[in-house]
Amino acid sequence: IINLVLFALAYVFSISDGFGFLLLVKEDADRSLLRMATIDDLTGLPNRAAFMRQGEACRRLCQRTGQPVALILMDIDHFKQVNDTFGHAAGDAVLTAVGATLRGLVRDIDVLGRLGGEEFAAVLPGSSPAQAALVAERVRQTLADVRPSHQDREIRFTASFGIADLGREGHLDQALSLADTALYRAKSQGRNQVVVEPPP
Ligand code: GH3
Ligand code: MG
Ligand code: MG
Repeated sequence: IINLVLFALAYVFSISDGFGFLLLVKEDADRSLLRMATIDDLTGLPNRAAFMRQGEACRRLCQRTGQPVALILMDIDHFKQVNDTFGHAAGDAVLTAVGATLRGLVRDIDVLGRLGGEEFAAVLPGSSPAQAALVAERVRQTLADVRPSHQDREIRFTASFGIADLGREGHLDQALSLADTALYRAKSQGRNQVVVEPPP
């Protein structure tokens, strides 16, 4: 009987242990799936879908609490030339460096994202468009000194910025198209600059 009880206990233990292991594996897989679905691999920033969710939640919270909130849209200038001159891997190095620079310059509460390609965005709760323009200007100047090297050659690049008043818009989507208009103006006025739309 003792043998039987010991055997039964060992049996139950081995099964539950196996299930525990499976659960751990599943939890790990779930976590990496979630990460893949929300984080951009190259920069480690939220991807477009995650940025839209977090940014819109941030806008609504600011609307409720009556805080200002602004949107910055950023696009690297002549990025195609970087790829064409130095190669795709060098372009990737620029994107990684830009991601790290952005993360270093905004506050923890700001929502950052890589919208795709060489386009990035930030939602700044508590900031007016004018304050966001100052942040963008700081990013613009800092990026001028970010020069990833590729095969002993320094890669220089600049970026253009469009700012929109997210507090005035009904949805992040609308503010994005306004910021896009501002960005378009920044590009057509010579790039490497910050433009606020509508003008203050
Ligand atoms: P503009 O100043 O008007 O923004 O010009 P641009 O060259 O930056 O813009 P354009 O849209 O013509 O080119 C964007 C380039 O970005 C083309 C595409 O190959 C490159 N690109 C997009 N995603 C990636 C990526 O993940 N890695 C690399 N290396 N290049 C990328
Ligand atoms: Mg570009
Ligand atoms: Mg672009």
